Amino acid sequence: MSYILRNCDFVLTLSGEDLRILRNVNVLIENGVIVEIGDVKGSGYEEIDCSGHIAMPGLVNAHTHTPMSLLRGFFDDAELPTWLNKMWSVERELTPDIIALGSELSIIEMIMSGTTAFIDMYYHPEVTAEIALKYGVRAMLGPPFMDTYVNAVQVENELRNFYVKYVHSSLIKPIVNIHSIYTVGKDTLLRAKELSEALNLPIHIHISETRDEIYESKKRYGVFPVEYLNMLGIVTNKTQLVHLGWVTNWELGLISRAGAKVIHAPTSNMKLATAGHFPMKELMSMGVTVALGTDGPASNNSLDMFREMKMAVLLQRHSYWDVGIKAIHAFRAATINGYKLLGVRGGCLDKGCVADLVLLDAGSPRLQPLRSDNLLSNIVYSADGSDVDLVMVNGKVIYEKSRDYYALKERVKIISEDLNDFIQRFL
Ligand SMILES: [Zn+2]
Repeated sequence: MSYILRNCDFVLTLSGEDLRILRNVNVLIENGVIVEIGDVKGSGYEEIDCSGHIAMPGLVNAHTHTPMSLLRGFFDDAELPTWLNKMWSVERELTPDIIALGSELSIIEMIMSGTTAFIDMYYHPEVTAEIALKYGVRAMLGPPFMDTYVNAVQVENELRNFYVKYVHSSLIKPIVNIHSIYTVGKDTLLRAKELSEALNLPIHIHISETRDEIYESKKRYGVFPVEYLNMLGIVTNKTQLVHLGWVTNWELGLISRAGAKVIHAPTSNMKLATAGHFPMKELMSMGVTVALGTDGPASNNSLDMFREMKMAVLLQRHSYWDVGIKAIHAFRAATINGYKLLGVRGGCLDKGCVADLVLLDAGSPRLQPLRSDNLLSNIVYSADGSDVDLVMVNGKVIYEKSRDYYALKERVKIISEDLNDFIQRFL
């Protein structure tokens, strides 16, 4: 399908690293890719009226645990170790059917709030992948290695099957997920590394999230967590490190030299009281790709990436006592950098970028008064997911508020009732 977005009030995009704002332009899309933008005409295209709207790149939630919306609001006031044990007590009882309900709820929430792609760590990834395909959103997923929960051989087999099934999918990408160095042993880490090399897949891992993790790593291995991963050959340009709240400057050097990518999850870190400081400024100055994620909907508890962009800037300013981290940094992290992690040319509205985009209501009260000079600022600090009117992924309209809103709410109502039936026995 070919589309023309006609007469967009504003187009907000990144040209390389630089912000670019266009007024009153058309966007041409063919075969899932943006082919022209500007004062262009097109005939034979399906028309989308873009007047009264801001077109911007779709948002990437670069770290989440999609099915965990089933545990939203279940246990909100504990620090990470206690919280994890409580989550695991329910997760041991989950069936693929329940996981599917949680994933569907999250995917609906994500697409309604402008997320066009997500990176997921959870059991039964094929369940979530099928729902992602049904709704037309991009996802990178794989079963997590976690010795405390499941045998590593079983995870490897599951990942190999997942890989075979989805390696040629245009929307689904496999990944090697490792929960953390405190839930897997050395043999499993090495097994995961070999799989990543054999199948040419990225590795995604929670690391340096709490002080306890650091103390334990020093006690057991004599080194800090990122150093430990590096000793095992796991810090490479295919590695995605999540959290990094407690990380030394020499570990940052290892990350930068290897070309590893990092993901900041500010809200979840604050809510779980993991404290520390994600050194965003230092990482960016070293040229490291920084992306943003909400973490799971049981620890955030929202999947709204607009909120997450704002939270990232605020937490960084709070930690550094200065304003060096700006709206543009959060916007890059949530768009173009997220797509770098996916290995897709996206996060941009430019010739050759995938047509993963969002139309925001330019008349939303939250965004007024609106001008080119405050557009980015208003989007990062004031917009929220409810300002999203249309979402396109891979050149296909996957959400249009005027068409889909009430049907999706009906579906959400049914899912919510089923999830409450399930969770009753744990309350
Ligand atoms: Zn996580």
